[in-house]
Amino acid sequence: MPLEEKNFPSSYVLIIEDEQTIIEFLRVGLAYEGFQVEIACDGWSGLRLFNAQKFDLVILDLMLPDLNGLEICRRLRSANPDVAIILLTAKREIPDRIAGLNLGADDYVTKPFSFEELLARIRAVLRRRGRPQEQAIVTAADIMLNCATHEVHKNGEPIDLTPKEFALLELFMRHPRRVFTRETLLNRIWGFDFAGDTNVVDVHIHHLREKIGDRAKRLIRTNYGLGYSFRPDEDDPLA
Ligand code: CA
Repeated sequence: MPLEEKNFPSSYVLIIEDEQTIIEFLRVGLAYEGFQVEIACDGWSGLRLFNAQKFDLVILDLMLPDLNGLEICRRLRSANPDVAIILLTAKREIPDRIAGLNLGADDYVTKPFSFEELLARIRAVLRRRGRPQEQAIVTAADIMLNCATHEVHKNGEPIDLTPKEFALLELFMRHPRRVFTRETLLNRIWGFDFAGDTNVVDVHIHHLREKIGDRAKRLIRTNYGLGYSFRPDEDDPLA
């Protein structure tokens, strides 16, 4: 198996969050994308870690057991004007979200969120801050994705994808040949607390294949008993 290309070479991210399921969800996803991840489960240890090391990005939960998330945000920003800060907020925390942006946070995501949604925010924020990161344009097999503008072209012709279809195709194209299980795709695209059936993945893959002209299922392969993978190479031995 070829070495996977890491998308965020040597970007350091600090997660300050007290909910274990979200910590794991973030830790696994971010590490897979090539981030160096540090975790703090409360505000004070978050600030301690932050002051001990240089981070490119902080993902900060606003509801923490000890320190107020807004206070942490203020301290992070005054300690480092360059670090990217993304807040994790609950639906009811709208005033805090606005206060957080006023205190220097770059963006926020509202729980529940999907990993791809967070990753899109991270990409946008790091791009604005001029951080080393992966290309906004991804190409494979006559398909060109522009992840900054969310445009898709196949052989130069525009294709209309829904946000979920786009996220699926982007994930596949950034990780060619990797087999994704339905559960992984659900986790990544639909979110860690999606309550529906894994059939939703099959339905979206079906639509995506139709739209990119892959009715023969040679680009997006079904790996029976496993899941799906994207295989842009023509001389693929498994073809
Ligand atoms: Ca919390």
